[in-house]
Amino acid sequence: MTPARPDETDLRHLRRAVDLAAEALRAGDEPFGSVLVGPDGQVLAEERNRVHSLGDVTRHPEFALARWAVVHLTERQRRASTVYTSGEHCPMCSAAHGWVGLGPIVYAHSAAQLTQWLTELGVAPSPVRCLTVDDVVPGLDVRGPVPELADRMRDMHSSFHRQARRDERP
Ligand code: ZN
Repeated sequence: MTPARPDETDLRHLRRAVDLAAEALRAGDEPFGSVLVGPDGQVLAEERNRVHSLGDVTRHPEFALARWAVVHLTERQRRASTVYTSGEHCPMCSAAHGWVGLGPIVYAHSAAQLTQWLTELGVAPSPVRCLTVDDVVPGLDVRGPVPELADRMRDMHSSFHRQARRDERP
């Protein structure tokens, strides 16, 4: 993991990923959003978490973008495309990203940060181990976190889990 020194273009795409996370949160889904950007800087596809709304725990945005990329892009285009994402990929999404041969990943907050935030909130541990993208896809160009956006994401995750706790109450 390299601390991100994002340029203006990186920040623009990352802010969009964070806005998609906010959209997920408003819909009752966990706040995760991702944007797939082609080699020429064009936004190719966007997705947000849909786990709650679709009742499918695999509906992570990064997994959806990997699937989109394998259908719509050549191997060379995939290699030259970047995924901007609010949160570092989970192992499932890292694996999908690696299998389809996508290029760099830029994230606002790391998986380790999320694990720490959820622990602080008293959320039960995830059934899947927290790994870095590099643990799953060695050698990939991965940049993050970006502190000012990570703070906003921490507030969103906190809000999601506080609401989930209220909903559980009889
Ligand atoms: Zn995932």
